[in-house]
Amino acid sequence: MTQVDTLIEEARTLGLFKAHAPFEVHCSNCHSRLDPAGDCSSCGLIGRPETDLAKRSRSDPTVVEKLLRVQIAKRRAYRPVKAGRETA
Ligand SMILES: [Zn+2]
Repeated sequence: MTQVDTLIEEARTLGLFKAHAPFEVHCSNCHSRLDPAGDCSSCGLIGRPETDLAKRSRSDPTVVEKLLRVQIAKRRAYRPVKAGRETA
């Protein structure tokens, strides 16, 4: 298992993969504005299917690895405003 595989699995566990329509501009999780790539910089949501990243990681492992690390860190730091206590 590669580093990227491990990160993809971690992101999946955190529920970060939520592919949405190409015209969608707001995060389906926290409703923040998505960045141009379709990812959420507030809660770490990744607006692309897991398979896309897995495919991309074959040509661009460092880019994908960095993206996953950043988004996972964001989700870990993210605290929903109204969802009460979350212990993760
Ligand atoms: Zn979000």
